[in-house]
Amino acid sequence: MRIISKLMVFITHVGSLASRSVDFMVPQSSNCTICGKGMASNKTRREQETREMAILHRSLCGECYSSIPWLSRIICSYCGRSVQCDDCLRRKERPFLLNRSAVTYSSSMREWLALYKYRGNERLGPILTAMLVPVLLRLTKEVLTQSKHVTKDRESFSKTRKKGWMEQIKSSLVSSKENICWDAITYVPISNERAQERGFNQAEQLAESLATTFRIPLYQLLLRERHTEKMSFKTRSERLRDAQQLFSLNRGQLEELVRRADLQGTLNRRLRILLIDDIYTTGSTVEACANVIKEHEGEKFDIYVLTWARS
Ligand SMILES: [Zn+2]
Ligand SMILES: [Zn+2]
Repeated sequence: MRIISKLMVFITHVGSLASRSVDFMVPQSSNCTICGKGMASNKTRREQETREMAILHRSLCGECYSSIPWLSRIICSYCGRSVQCDDCLRRKERPFLLNRSAVTYSSSMREWLALYKYRGNERLGPILTAMLVPVLLRLTKEVLTQSKHVTKDRESFSKTRKKGWMEQIKSSLVSSKENICWDAITYVPISNERAQERGFNQAEQLAESLATTFRIPLYQLLLRERHTEKMSFKTRSERLRDAQQLFSLNRGQLEELVRRADLQGTLNRRLRILLIDDIYTTGSTVEACANVIKEHEGEKFDIYVLTWARS
């Protein structure tokens, strides 16, 4: 128990470091990022307010802020939904352990994502990241609390602290979350065609920001095989069938991840990979991605999914 409570203190500390980095990325503006309305200048930081919340309060007007349907009450522990879900009851075997999301995919969240994804409003990037930060902190806490390897992880963490002063500074800056929890962060790729048309991959951007914020190594573990019609226009069975052959493994990146884990001495446990996407609908996309990673022989992976919205 003492180990866990020490880890929790540490996580909170890392959390505050993490939020500081997000803080730097936020553009200052007196207009709401979503609706463009001018905002009153009483955007000073409130006491006890986390940095992520401060970012949101600074970038959003009261009306837009209050439209966020935070997913704070999780009913389905598997997919992170706030209601009982039949999908998860129906499918017992899945290649990833669980999904957690920041918000419910409401009509206002659909508009926010469209602003970011299709209309290229890049100011949304730091906002969506700030919304994901507390979810990732909670997920990490959840994973470490349940982990059977928590003692081993703690030992390898202590080892890094016993190094020289330079390494000590490095390891306090380079969040030791990567030593104690996540081995890699990766994302759902989009096709080249879509990347050209949109200019960026929103899942990649979110993964990149979270990787920087928490100092988790970022890998492009997956490749997209072919271009498909927008998933949102398809039925559930069409999505499942389509997703099967959509992705392939980026072998070189996975081998690099394993090499790094070997150097860090973490190959004695299952490697924890955090897979990022913007929306979780039926879970078929992330399921297909996780399947591809799991097919890699040799190492054992525990794949967790973090998405911005749960539809
Ligand atoms: Zn607004
Ligand atoms: Zn569920």
